[in-house]
Amino acid sequence: RTNVNDPYSRGALRRKTVEDILTPLNDCFMLPSTAVLDFSTMSEIMQSGYTRVPIYEEEKSNIVEILFVKDLALVDPDDCTPMTTITKFYNHPLHFVFNDTKLDAMLEEFKKGNSALAIVQKVNNEGEGDPFYEVLGLVTLEDVIEEIIKSEILDE
Ligand code: ADP
Repeated sequence: RTNVNDPYSRGALRRKTVEDILTPLNDCFMLPSTAVLDFSTMSEIMQSGYTRVPIYEEEKSNIVEILFVKDLALVDPDDCTPMTTITKFYNHPLHFVFNDTKLDAMLEEFKKGNSALAIVQKVNNEGEGDPFYEVLGLVTLEDVIEEIIKSEILDE
């Protein structure tokens, strides 16, 4: 039963991992670092409706930067500013977590406050070659809160 002194220690949060709730890489709205902030790209970003856009190099699994939509406030689409000019200027830190991170631990990370979005990776040691980090998707505070609300309703 819920312990009032430890409100986040509910079953689902202790049991479930970020892998259970992440937004898979293929569903993520992302842009390549080669993008140019012209009218068409800026419209695409606005229409996506997301507040943060991971920026990748070569392939989507290689996230190198993150753009906040609010970084675009002073960008004039007529200037056709390269994406990297903006991302290098704001230089928001990337936050990586492992796929087996439990939701209570993830919540504590988010509460520390440096970012409310994390990139989920796992160590892939299937196959012949050396193990490598594989990016699975992203998880935000919103995803964790959704789980808390679900478990409230189910009264776990
Ligand atoms: P936003 O403020 O952009 O709506 P939230 O943190 O409120 O982001 O998250 C809402 C949902 O959208 C979550 O399920 C999260 O995983 C997902 N999400 C956040 N950013 C992106 C993105 N760039 N592409 C796809 N899904 C995203």
